[in-house]
Amino acid sequence: MSDLQELYQSVILDHNRKPRNFGELPSASHEADGRNPLCGDEVHVALVLDEAGTIADVKFTGHGCAISKASASLMTAAVKGKSRSEAEELFARFHALVLGQDPDEGKTLGQLVVFSGVSRFPVRVKCASLAWHTLKAALESGATDTAAVPAVSTE
Ligand code: ZN
Repeated sequence: MSDLQELYQSVILDHNRKPRNFGELPSASHEADGRNPLCGDEVHVALVLDEAGTIADVKFTGHGCAISKASASLMTAAVKGKSRSEAEELFARFHALVLGQDPDEGKTLGQLVVFSGVSRFPVRVKCASLAWHTLKAALESGATDTAAVPAVSTE
């Protein structure tokens, strides 16, 4: 394993152990549930979209493997303060990265670059992208009624 891969691994393990933005968000304007049945990962993403269309706050809860949890943690850190369209664009680029299709290999994706190695493990792509799919479902939902929380499955 190269030094770079070891560094990436340690960032993922750190976010798994101490996830950022983990917890409930009672003031959420948008939320969604995501499941990756192949691995057993489950995530709930809740966010506050302000009147300007900016993700003012975002949190997640759930459980799953280290990759899914670290990805949710890094996703929330990456999209907080971004507009909805910026967040969707970031998801498109992250998705290309984990599929091994990003021409920059994540070099302009900030900390998200730590998931570049996932492309070599196709079964892990769904773990890494679950939180992002769930974020997208939340942004598209507009649901404030918890009974109407949309659910996505990456299976
Ligand atoms: Zn997983």
